[in-house]
Amino acid sequence: MKVSVISATENPVEVISRAAGTCYGKDNASRKRMEACYNSGHLSVFEHATVSFRIEGISRACMAQLTRHRHVSFCVESQRYNRYDLNGVDWYVAPPSFMKCTAGLKFFDHYMKEAADAYIEALADGEKPEDARYLLPEATKTNLVMTCNVRELFHILDMRMDKAAQWEIRGLAKAMHEACKGINKEWCEVMELRA
Ligand SMILES: Cc1cc2nc3c(=O)[nH]c(=O)nc-3n(C[C@H](O)[C@H](O)[C@H](O)COP(=O)(O)OP(=O)(O)OC[C@H]3O[C@@H](n4cnc5c(N)ncnc54)[C@H](O)[C@@H]3O)c2cc1C
Repeated sequence: MKVSVISATENPVEVISRAAGTCYGKDNASRKRMEACYNSGHLSVFEHATVSFRIEGISRACMAQLTRHRHVSFCVESQRYNRYDLNGVDWYVAPPSFMKCTAGLKFFDHYMKEAADAYIEALADGEKPEDARYLLPEATKTNLVMTCNVRELFHILDMRMDKAAQWEIRGLAKAMHEACKGINKEWCEVMELRA
C-alpha cells in the first residue's frame, strides 16, 4: 500500500488555536491553547484543519472498513467504469496469515488466479466491467482519495491503530499517521497530541 498527503492545511496549529481563541477572547496562535483543548475534550476546534490523502493498493475489504467513517469525503476507483487486465499484474492483497507458509500462499494465489481468469473470461464473453467485477474477491486492490478534518482523523487513528483493528487497516492508519507527521513542523505538533 502507498499513502501520500496530497493537500493539507498549511498551518494547523495556528488555525486550530486561533479558532479556539475565538471562544476565549484571544486572537493569537498558541500551541498551549490547542493542547489544552485536546486535553479538556474541546475537540470541535480540531475540525478547522483538514488533510487529503491519496491511498493506493489497499484491498476492497480494507476500503469497506475505512469508508464506514461518515465524516470523511471519499473518491474511490470505480470497478464499474474501469476494465482491468489482471494478467501478470499485482492486483490483490494477500493476508500475512496465508503467506506464513508456501502451501498457504499457493492456496491463496490459486484462488486469486481462478477469480482473475473468470473475470477476464466474462469480459471476453461481452459482460460489462460493472457485472464482471462480481467475480472479483475482496482482496482486489483499489485506490482512493479521502479528505477529513483533524477531529475525525484522530477518531480514525484511535479506532484503527488499536490492536483490535485488523492488520491491514491498522497498517493503513499507521501510514496515515506517519504521512501527517511528515507534512511540516506544525503537523508534527498536532500529531504529537495523540502520543
Ligand atoms: C475492531 C472493529 C470491529 C468492527 N466490527 C464491525 C462489525 O462487525 N460490523 C459492522 O457493521 N461494523 C463493524 N465495525 C465498524 C464500526 O461499527 C463503525 O461503523 C466504524 O468503526 C466507524 O466508526 P464510528 O461510527 O465511530 O465513526 P465515524 O463514522 O467516523 O463517526 C465519528 C463519530 O461521530 C459520531 N457519529 C457519527 N455518525 C453519527 C450518528 N448517525 N449518530 C450519532 N453519532 C454519530 C460518533 O460519535 C462517531 O464515533 C468495526 C470497527 C472496529 C474498529
